[in-house]
Amino acid sequence: MNEKGNLSINSENFLPIIKKWLYTDKDIFVRELVSNASDAVTKLQKLVRLGEAEIPETEKLEIHVVLNQDLQTLQIIDNGIGMTADEIKKYINQIAFSGATDFLAKFQEKADQENEIIGHFGLGFYSAFMVADKVEIDTLSYQPDAPAAKWICEGGIDYEMDAGSRETRGTTITLHLGEDGKEFLEESTLYAALRKYCSFMPVPIYVDVIKEPTEEEKDAEKKEANTLHVSPEEAENLTKEDALEELEEKKAEIAEEPKPLNDTTPLWQKQPKDCTDEEYKAFYHKVFFDMNDPLFWIHLNMDYPFRLKGILYFPKLVEHMDVVEGEIKLYSNQVYIADNIKEVVPEFLLLLKGVLDCPDMPLNVSRSALQNDGYVDKMNTYITKKVADKLTQLFKNDRSTYEGFWNDIGIFIKYGCMREEKFYDKVKDALLLKTTDDVYETLSEYLEKNKEKHENKLFFVSDENLQAQYIRLFKEQGLEAAILSTAIDKPFVSFLEYKNSGIQVQRIDADITDTLQQKEDGEISEAKKQADEFATTQMETLFRELSKNDSLKVTTETLKAENVSAMILLSEKSRRMMEMMESYGNATDLKAMFADVKPEETLVLNRSNGLVKYLFDMREKEEKKDDVQMLCHHIYDLALMSHRPLTSDEMTSFIDRSNTLLEKLASFEANK
Ligand code: ADP
Repeated sequence: MNEKGNLSINSENFLPIIKKWLYTDKDIFVRELVSNASDAVTKLQKLVRLGEAEIPETEKLEIHVVLNQDLQTLQIIDNGIGMTADEIKKYINQIAFSGATDFLAKFQEKADQENEIIGHFGLGFYSAFMVADKVEIDTLSYQPDAPAAKWICEGGIDYEMDAGSRETRGTTITLHLGEDGKEFLEESTLYAALRKYCSFMPVPIYVDVIKEPTEEEKDAEKKEANTLHVSPEEAENLTKEDALEELEEKKAEIAEEPKPLNDTTPLWQKQPKDCTDEEYKAFYHKVFFDMNDPLFWIHLNMDYPFRLKGILYFPKLVEHMDVVEGEIKLYSNQVYIADNIKEVVPEFLLLLKGVLDCPDMPLNVSRSALQNDGYVDKMNTYITKKVADKLTQLFKNDRSTYEGFWNDIGIFIKYGCMREEKFYDKVKDALLLKTTDDVYETLSEYLEKNKEKHENKLFFVSDENLQAQYIRLFKEQGLEAAILSTAIDKPFVSFLEYKNSGIQVQRIDADITDTLQQKEDGEISEAKKQADEFATTQMETLFRELSKNDSLKVTTETLKAENVSAMILLSEKSRRMMEMMESYGNATDLKAMFADVKPEETLVLNRSNGLVKYLFDMREKEEKKDDVQMLCHHIYDLALMSHRPLTSDEMTSFIDRSNTLLEKLASFEANK
């Protein structure tokens, strides 16, 4: 029945285009051919269930991948439904309709990455030609009396059909690997591709590698044969124990059945109630190669209005790493599709690790088309809700555990809130702030606790070390500030303010005069008034010179902390403006617009500090003028240091001055 023909496609360039298009993902043929085999088996199982096909009870349905390094062939063998010759004609030869024409049209229109077709499905079988010069199909249909059929194609558009040689039901696809497919002759390359795409396919997959034994292997075999050869004298010496031991070994050999490469019932396919914590953790370690245990997880399990199953894990953050790297693996019916497809998974979830199996997702469309499809939207809504529910439940039912996780999950939640309105709306009451008192509070808890001094104000610390002085002052007043010091906190602070109108968010070194103010006992004395007058006039002039900021204000306060001589406050507005300018980077024209804007800084002198008192006392003494100037400069630098890092010039002058002061002190002591 030899028959020749040519593939009914519209373009002779079809195969070269497929090769070129898929070139970067050459290993995809493994997925396509093995998933075809797996489909053939599941179709058969379905027919058996429906009573439309019969198979012997003992027959195991499975797939064998056989690599023959000598013949340079790779075979994918299944015992699924098989195909009749007519079916080959219909499903394999007439590839022009359906996917293929569509694909060609799209490809020729726009061959860029953007238009990448997400699953590459629909043309699967032909991906074999990315690696093979010649492909053979040998198949026997489950249908009674259908003869076996064979199909051979050498990569052009011509094929040949003939009687097949399979005697048992199923399909054998033989790839004669060509130059482009040589790498798959390597066992490791083949295994890597199989593990990537087929680890969770629903039908057991066994791999056999046939190769010429190496010299070493040959030697080992010879040795083994020799030891097996037992001379009659030796046999006499064999003890009963030896014989028993040998028997046990034989038994063990028989008992050890070959293991399939894949896990046919991955955890996500099970009902959540049937899975243990140990199983979830083991699955996580295996799939994501992460030695750490995940913090917690969410098992997604939906059947209606579309099917979606999966497990999302909240990973522990890797210490000292700024970047959070999640990994969301997408599957369709247990066949791996791709990682981290942001068009499919809500972007903020990409910080998590997990698997999603969405068999109803249209895979043979471009990513951009998929986004416009209502499916992705619905799926996002569902996942977002599930994640938010899990978090709020944990917050409500087990707050201390939730607080323990905050360091790791906070960044994810903050990012999610800023990215997805819906997510923020659901979790906003479970957002925590870690405070300078080392406790976790929600925004409303914080506001309630600090309302006496700061009505509707949230103070935060962006650098615990640098702002230590301010924190100390806050603590002395029984106040606290939220620690918002990671990279994501900068935009998050603005976000919080935007979402909570009526609440002012300020950094701890902003205008905190109301925090600093102490109730003075009785009237302020005349001497104090004069000192204040001196501070806010003459000293202000001096400090303006020193700071090179002619809009600097000087005020006085009586602080509890006597050791603090002065502090600098920078208005929240100015700070934000400066941060904005920094973010412009090299945009010089934008920067120029703000060049004349001076930071609204205030220097607060502490009346209860000994040095400040001394300066006030010396204000009339002309002979102390130089000393006063030097000390003022020092006070200013000390205040500056707890406000921002000194520049190199500032640091040099501070160190020089410190030495001079110490020398003065030493000579003063010596002359006493
Ligand atoms: P798709 O799998 O997306 O339909 P393919 O080009 O991979 O596209 O395969 C075309 C068709 O050929 C399949 O739908 C199936 O009917 C048939 N087919 C391919 N491989 C096998 C197989 N191993 N056993 C039975 N039928 C197969």
